[in-house]
Amino acid sequence: MIKVLVVDDEENIRLLYREELEDEGYAVTVAANAKEALEAFRSTPFDMIVLDIKMPDMDGIELLRIIKEENKDIPVVLCSAYGRYKQDFRIWACDAYVVKSADLDELKLTLRQVLSA
Ligand SMILES: [Mg+2]
Repeated sequence: MIKVLVVDDEENIRLLYREELEDEGYAVTVAANAKEALEAFRSTPFDMIVLDIKMPDMDGIELLRIIKEENKDIPVVLCSAYGRYKQDFRIWACDAYVVKSADLDELKLTLRQVLSA
Protein backbone atom coordinates (compact mmCIF):
# COMPACT_ATOMS: atom_id res chain seq x y z
CA MET A 1 0.00 0.00 0.00
CA ILE A 2 1.17 3.50 -0.76
CA LYS A 3 1.76 5.40 2.46
CA VAL A 4 0.73 9.05 2.53
CA LEU A 5 1.30 11.53 5.34
CA VAL A 6 -1.31 14.31 5.40
CA VAL A 7 -0.38 17.43 7.37
CA ASP A 8 -3.08 20.02 8.04
CA ASP A 9 -4.00 22.06 11.11
CA GLU A 10 -7.74 21.82 10.39
CA GLU A 11 -9.38 18.70 11.74
CA ASN A 12 -12.19 18.64 9.18
CA ILE A 13 -9.61 18.66 6.38
CA ARG A 14 -7.64 15.85 7.98
CA LEU A 15 -10.82 13.79 8.29
CA LEU A 16 -11.91 14.54 4.72
CA TYR A 17 -8.51 13.78 3.19
CA ARG A 18 -8.15 10.62 5.22
CA GLU A 19 -11.54 9.31 4.16
CA GLU A 20 -11.18 10.22 0.48
CA LEU A 21 -7.58 9.04 0.14
CA GLU A 22 -8.29 5.78 1.95
CA ASP A 23 -11.11 5.23 -0.55
CA GLU A 24 -8.47 5.64 -3.26
CA GLY A 25 -6.47 2.84 -1.68
CA TYR A 26 -3.80 4.84 0.13
CA ALA A 27 -2.68 4.12 3.67
CA VAL A 28 -3.13 7.52 5.33
CA THR A 29 -1.45 8.95 8.42
CA VAL A 30 -2.46 12.43 9.58
CA ALA A 31 -0.55 15.08 11.50
CA ALA A 32 -2.03 18.30 12.90
CA ASN A 33 1.15 20.38 12.95
CA ALA A 34 4.80 20.43 11.96
CA LYS A 35 5.96 18.76 15.17
CA GLU A 36 3.65 15.77 14.69
CA ALA A 37 4.54 15.66 11.02
CA LEU A 38 8.29 15.51 11.67
CA GLU A 39 7.84 12.81 14.30
CA ALA A 40 5.86 10.72 11.82
CA PHE A 41 8.21 11.49 8.91
CA ARG A 42 11.30 10.55 10.91
CA SER A 43 9.86 7.27 12.20
CA THR A 44 7.98 5.95 9.16
CA PRO A 45 9.00 5.72 5.50
CA PHE A 46 6.22 7.48 3.57
CA ASP A 47 5.79 7.42 -0.19
CA MET A 48 4.40 10.94 -0.31
CA ILE A 49 3.52 13.91 1.88
CA VAL A 50 0.51 16.20 1.43
CA LEU A 51 1.28 19.43 3.19
CA ASP A 52 -0.89 22.41 4.13
CA ILE A 53 0.86 25.77 3.86
CA LYS A 54 -0.98 27.86 6.44
CA MET A 55 -0.46 26.40 9.88
CA PRO A 56 0.28 28.01 13.23
CA ASP A 57 3.82 27.70 14.62
CA MET A 58 5.78 26.33 11.68
CA ASP A 59 4.13 26.75 8.27
CA GLY A 60 4.20 24.26 5.44
CA ILE A 61 6.87 26.16 3.52
CA GLU A 62 9.37 25.88 6.37
CA LEU A 63 8.35 22.27 6.95
CA LEU A 64 8.89 21.54 3.25
CA ARG A 65 12.44 22.89 3.55
CA ILE A 66 13.24 20.62 6.51
CA ILE A 67 11.67 17.55 4.92
CA LYS A 68 13.57 18.01 1.66
CA GLU A 69 16.79 18.63 3.57
CA GLU A 70 16.38 15.28 5.29
CA ASN A 71 15.03 13.39 2.28
CA LYS A 72 15.14 15.17 -1.05
CA ASP A 73 13.52 12.24 -2.85
CA ILE A 74 10.23 12.13 -1.01
CA PRO A 75 7.45 13.70 -3.09
CA VAL A 76 5.73 16.61 -1.36
CA VAL A 77 2.43 18.08 -2.57
CA LEU A 78 1.68 21.50 -1.11
CA CYS A 79 -1.94 22.52 -0.57
CA SER A 80 -3.26 25.97 0.03
CA ALA A 81 -6.57 27.77 -0.12
CA TYR A 82 -4.72 30.46 -2.06
CA GLY A 83 -3.13 30.44 -5.48
CA ARG A 84 -0.67 33.19 -4.65
CA TYR A 85 2.04 30.88 -3.35
CA LYS A 86 2.46 29.48 -6.85
CA GLN A 87 4.79 32.41 -7.54
CA ASP A 88 6.71 32.05 -4.27
CA PHE A 89 10.25 30.80 -4.90
CA ARG A 90 10.26 29.04 -1.51
CA ILE A 91 7.86 26.40 -2.82
CA TRP A 92 10.03 25.44 -5.78
CA ALA A 93 11.27 22.40 -3.88
CA CYS A 94 7.78 20.90 -3.80
CA ASP A 95 6.70 18.37 -6.41
CA ALA A 96 3.22 19.80 -6.98
CA TYR A 97 0.96 22.53 -5.75
CA VAL A 98 -2.81 22.17 -5.37
CA VAL A 99 -5.29 24.91 -4.52
CA LYS A 100 -7.67 23.53 -1.90
CA SER A 101 -11.18 22.71 -3.00
CA ALA A 102 -14.11 20.79 -1.52
CA ASP A 103 -13.75 18.57 -4.57
CA LEU A 104 -10.67 16.42 -4.15
CA ASP A 105 -10.45 15.25 -7.76
CA GLU A 106 -7.54 17.57 -8.58
CA LEU A 107 -5.63 16.48 -5.49
CA LYS A 108 -6.21 12.79 -6.29
CA LEU A 109 -5.09 13.26 -9.88
CA THR A 110 -2.02 15.18 -8.72
CA LEU A 111 -1.05 12.42 -6.28
CA ARG A 112 -1.26 9.84 -9.06
CA GLN A 113 0.86 12.02 -11.36
CA VAL A 114 3.48 12.72 -8.71
CA LEU A 115 3.76 9.03 -7.82
CA SER A 116 4.16 7.98 -11.45
CA ALA A 117 6.74 10.72 -12.20
MG1 LIG B 1 -4.17 25.45 7.47
